[in-house]
Amino acid sequence: MIKKLGVAALSAGLIFSGVSTTAASANGNNQMNNDGEMGNEAKNIIYMIPDGFNADYATNYRHFKGEDAVWDQHQQGSYTTYSADSNITDSAAAGTAMASGVKTNNGTIGIDPEGNTHQTILEASQDKDMATGLVATSTITHATPAAFGSHVEDRGNETEIARQLIDNEIDVLLGGGKNNFLPESEGGNQEEANVLQQAEAQNYQFAENRNQLLEADIDLDNENLLGLFADDAMSPELHRNAEEEPSLGEMTQTAIDTLNKDDDGFFLMVEGSQIDWAGHDNDAAWAMTDVAAFEAAVQEAIDFAEEDGNTLVVVGGDHETGGMTAGANGSGSANPDMLHSVTATGENIAAELNEERSNISEVVQKYTDMELSEEEIQSIQEAEDPKMAINAAISTKANVGWTSTNHTGVDLPVYAYGPGANQFTGFHDNTDLPKLIAAAAGIEFGEEVSQNQSDNDVYTVQSGDTLFDIGLKYNYLWTTLQETNYFPNPDLIYPGDQVKLP
Ligand SMILES: [Zn+2]
Repeated sequence: MIKKLGVAALSAGLIFSGVSTTAASANGNNQMNNDGEMGNEAKNIIYMIPDGFNADYATNYRHFKGEDAVWDQHQQGSYTTYSADSNITDSAAAGTAMASGVKTNNGTIGIDPEGNTHQTILEASQDKDMATGLVATSTITHATPAAFGSHVEDRGNETEIARQLIDNEIDVLLGGGKNNFLPESEGGNQEEANVLQQAEAQNYQFAENRNQLLEADIDLDNENLLGLFADDAMSPELHRNAEEEPSLGEMTQTAIDTLNKDDDGFFLMVEGSQIDWAGHDNDAAWAMTDVAAFEAAVQEAIDFAEEDGNTLVVVGGDHETGGMTAGANGSGSANPDMLHSVTATGENIAAELNEERSNISEVVQKYTDMELSEEEIQSIQEAEDPKMAINAAISTKANVGWTSTNHTGVDLPVYAYGPGANQFTGFHDNTDLPKLIAAAAGIEFGEEVSQNQSDNDVYTVQSGDTLFDIGLKYNYLWTTLQETNYFPNPDLIYPGDQVKLP
């Protein structure tokens, strides 16, 4: 159980990895330190992650919108995204890199491949007495937010992640996933624990719809804010019921207003979670509308940062999804602007097909202004997954291309605004981002690692050692060490042997 790593780590054997916050300023941009920007330390950090987004999404979105997006003028550099075990990362390993500054295997959160737990930039901000928050449109226990506030071997263990987010006393948590906090007896996914009750006992105020969120008035000295607006993920922006679910922009605004009450500054991570899901579905309209929802959130952050003057806003995806292109199929132009006429996700359109799929034309016409060709109707008719065939027809009309239904390994653009923003210029790795943020805000980061217990508790025999000596050194009876290690004879240990310490 990790409770506030900084505290737990002390009892679990704190070691120093040798990476310090100053490592970030030693990565080739040294001359930038002297231009005055760094003299102005960032007080607040808003770290915004559009899951699945890259430069092609940015280009298509600019055409979709008809003008520059709020981030375009703030582009600084680019970065690589590979994980410890693949050149195509998943969101757990990418989130860990972006939160803790270390590579790990796909599927793992906050723990490196050797099993060592690494402090996240959010936890390091807590140690500096900053207020902290996480906002997402997925479950709040999904990989990206989880990577900032929890440490688990398996990203699928969302019930454990829920418990850790609350144990970690993150001040503001807004997103979906109420079921991951409730016990099975109340329809939730927790075996027994009622994490909502636990949160209430820790003075979390609970909001479960838009009005409750907008009316929330949190006394940050004594209260925290937990908003869970759906049992599972929140709705795609195309289908959001604005009476029930707040927008990503509204959640971001409330989070900023709440966290800004802390005089020590704040760290906030905001994820546009569903751009990635649109990419997996090759759903161009869902992608563009969820990028728009994310842009509204970035606009809130930039507006605040412009007025505040001491806030660093960093925007960057965790990986690209779908291998999107601007232009496809030999076309000489791309026209994603036609996606404005699409009013449902491919999944929702497909859900209205009858069993024989004899109503393809009328269903597609209901949610788009598209006249389908005979071939397109036939391909939807025969498709194993009609949703994908519908999305393909729509993407073809918009000349938006797709090359995968999974993540891809391309480099991503990073955008930054505020004190320290120019440190993001040039070519980086995803593990550099939290180090650059920490350096900009004077956050001590990158040193707290709690070592894997199984590594911690092994002694390698040196020449001349006896089991008695080793027992004396670590406070064990030599007979205990003999039994634990199944040594047939206490005299028969040799230099290089591993002695497990129970
Ligand atoms: Zn992702």
